[in-house]
Amino acid sequence: PVVTRFAPSPTGFLHLGGARTALFNLLFARHHGGRFLLRIEDTDRARSTQPAIDAILDGMRWLGLDWDGDAVFQFSRAARHAEVAHQMVASGHAYRCYLTNEELAAMREEAQVAKKPLRIRSTWRERSDHSADKPYVVRLKAPTEGATTIADRVQGEVTVQNAELDDLVLLRSDGTPTYMLAVVVDDHDMGVTHVIRGDDHLNNAFRQLPIYRANGWPEPVYAHIPLIHGADGAKLSKRHGAVGIEAYRDEMGILPEALGNYLLRLGWGHGDEEFIAREDAVRWFDLDHVGKSPSRFDLKKLENLNGHYIRAADDARLADQVAARLELDHDDTRRALLAQAMPVLKVRAANLNDLAEGARFLFVSRPLPVDDDAAALLSGDAPALLARLHAALDAVHNWDTEALEDAVRQVAEAAGVKLGQVAQPLRVALTGRRTSPGIFDVLVLLGREESLARIADHSA
Ligand code: GLU
Repeated sequence: PVVTRFAPSPTGFLHLGGARTALFNLLFARHHGGRFLLRIEDTDRARSTQPAIDAILDGMRWLGLDWDGDAVFQFSRAARHAEVAHQMVASGHAYRCYLTNEELAAMREEAQVAKKPLRIRSTWRERSDHSADKPYVVRLKAPTEGATTIADRVQGEVTVQNAELDDLVLLRSDGTPTYMLAVVVDDHDMGVTHVIRGDDHLNNAFRQLPIYRANGWPEPVYAHIPLIHGADGAKLSKRHGAVGIEAYRDEMGILPEALGNYLLRLGWGHGDEEFIAREDAVRWFDLDHVGKSPSRFDLKKLENLNGHYIRAADDARLADQVAARLELDHDDTRRALLAQAMPVLKVRAANLNDLAEGARFLFVSRPLPVDDDAAALLSGDAPALLARLHAALDAVHNWDTEALEDAVRQVAEAAGVKLGQVAQPLRVALTGRRTSPGIFDVLVLLGREESLARIADHSA
């Protein structure tokens, strides 16, 4: 059975690249009826933080990246990692290295002078005169001859000459495991069959495979996916704007299904399909259609997708989110009004902020603040027109869009002006803005009493 995992280091936000890696792992596992696991790689004690762990778990739940079972915390498995390292020493696949800091510094300098990368093959590799009480590290007895080839599911066949590898440290002198050892031991113990991760880890795969081999463990299938780049082609970074996904949720008002769909299409495709529901993604996902070149992040595309998902989303759900943005969460009446307004509000919205902005007029109290660019529309003939509108609307019995439209049209006709010349001051009087949902919808949403009062505020 297929087992995949997402293995973030909790040293910062859950960023877009990580979220996409997690998504691909989830989809691949679900597609094959397998399991998708989560491992928090918290071995860097200085840089791992609880807020970062929370942000990762939160972000994954928000995106619907539901992992199977409990998250595994890598640090808690340090004793197991050390155990494996000692077993590898016992079986002759690793050795205790007593090189001193001075000796290491000399090797480093030598490599520098020779302009060669430092590849440590310690003299202790073949020695057996161990001095028990001196500090040592455990090093892998890495293969020195031949080559290692990885048939990567995304990158294709990649070969590295074993002479290029070094005897990497498995266990530090304080007995703590290195990242290379911990990843392999954990992936093995968790039964991970497919390692799908960013291609910045491809080099690591060549250092990790010998650890599998030394232990006689089955090797995973590797799939190293290209990183996400900014629109300018450079690796995605803070410079390109938000990289943590909570900024897309909180600041930019993106829906999780939109971000998920966007990340899926970033580096994977199914024909020309643009909107892909999660069930279809599970049905269709494969590694063969993951692109080999880095994908470019495009905020416009994300917002277009988001607009699509906003229009498809349930009104009550959107109302809850917009209510929270407007800090109305505890007001049921207002939340109900928001839900009622949602069909007309969401027509043009690209994100939840647009919805909140568009809904604001529903909740402001009189006298309304009027936008600077709208104030002029309330001068000149406007107060007289608004007075006529007030009288006509006051006489409307059924407060519905049809009756209201009739009444407003009649006022325009009687005044000998176009509908727009009546509708614009009316809009400003009702909303304080130049743009709003359709004016008859606005009247219905505000209701008779509030509408008439707002109009009266600006009538002559
Ligand atoms: N913890 C590593 C990272 O966050 C990932 C390790 C892996 O996927 O093998 O980059």
